[in-house]
Amino acid sequence: MSAIPASLPLRNDLIGEEPYGAPQLDVPVCLNVNENPYPPEPAVCDAIAARVRAIAPTLNRYPDREHVALRQAFAGYLERESGARLEVGQLWGANGSNEIMLQLFQAFGGPGRTAIGADPTYSMYPEYARDTFTGWQLAHRNADFTLDVDRLIARIEETGPSMVLLTNPNNPTGTPLPQADIERVLAACEQVQVAGANPGVRPVVVIDEAYIEFRDPGTPSAVTLIGEHPNLAVSRTMSKAFAFAGARVGYLAADQGIIDCVRIVRMPYHLSAVTQAAALAAFEHTDEQLARVAHLRDTRDATAAWLKTQTYKGTPLRVADSQSNFLLFGGCFDHRDAIFDAMLERGVLIRVVGPEGWLRVCMGTDAEMARFREALVESLRIVE
Ligand code: PMP
Repeated sequence: MSAIPASLPLRNDLIGEEPYGAPQLDVPVCLNVNENPYPPEPAVCDAIAARVRAIAPTLNRYPDREHVALRQAFAGYLERESGARLEVGQLWGANGSNEIMLQLFQAFGGPGRTAIGADPTYSMYPEYARDTFTGWQLAHRNADFTLDVDRLIARIEETGPSMVLLTNPNNPTGTPLPQADIERVLAACEQVQVAGANPGVRPVVVIDEAYIEFRDPGTPSAVTLIGEHPNLAVSRTMSKAFAFAGARVGYLAADQGIIDCVRIVRMPYHLSAVTQAAALAAFEHTDEQLARVAHLRDTRDATAAWLKTQTYKGTPLRVADSQSNFLLFGGCFDHRDAIFDAMLERGVLIRVVGPEGWLRVCMGTDAEMARFREALVESLRIVE
């Protein structure tokens, strides 16, 4: 609970609000914030230390505001990872994809503007909207959490939003978004007039690919569509598959016009020299950083299969199809908080998120997943 005196002139719309964030508890098994459980290898840690040491004598100066070397590294990585050929001017970095999203809202949202997402989805989106005075609307997903593209397009045509936010794979459900659906939304948005804007102004379609590296190998990423769609923005992060959440590095791939809009609202020198150095070192070791992605996919598939064999009050657990590093499971929990608490008592932190009746777990190491399974079997029994 915060202690904000009534005498402080906090914005009226923020009165009673709480800071967003999952609990950061000191628990043996943390499976609640979709991190990569495998730490950087010692060789990567050494490379980070060496790069940071090398720039330390320059810390009296501001960093490269345009972080050109890092943007080149993003381009090199995306070519390798998704086959997209992008120029430095089509890339942009920030402190986590959280900051990328905020910058997109600062540039394209604002009073009188609306952004549309698809429920259930990432719980930070409404916060970016609130903080930039942007209206926030949700279109509903199908019962299996896939996108109802027709309904979404109808809503977009009705509303004239300035931003459409789609998450691929979605959080908290893990649901993949087929490229054909993205292309339909892009095509529809190319005919939509943004409400209150000059004639011919079209919505920006943001695809949040925070977990995209966990998709089925061979599946395309929306970054391959950038050349054909000037209003497409793809947000990425080093936090998840790249095992670099603590460094806070996210990036945006888009037409240069979008990057130039974001450059208007960014804080000067927003990306510290230390962050840039650490990220460059990590990109020198891309293979090591991504080494566990395939194993985490296997862990996810094995955990999903195991969860489906479990029951709660006689009902088999449901598991949402996931191409991410987490699973939304249950679908039948009448007291999900009690299950969460029982798990926590057993040293396993998961997440109460998503529609009622469901819980989310992210993939840990093999040892952590063994503890998760053990704790869940006991917790389901106790709570029954
Ligand atoms: N998008 C989605 C869908 C997420 O789940 C998260 C983190 N949980 C983010 C963006 C932000 O990640 P980061 O700021 O670490 O890049």
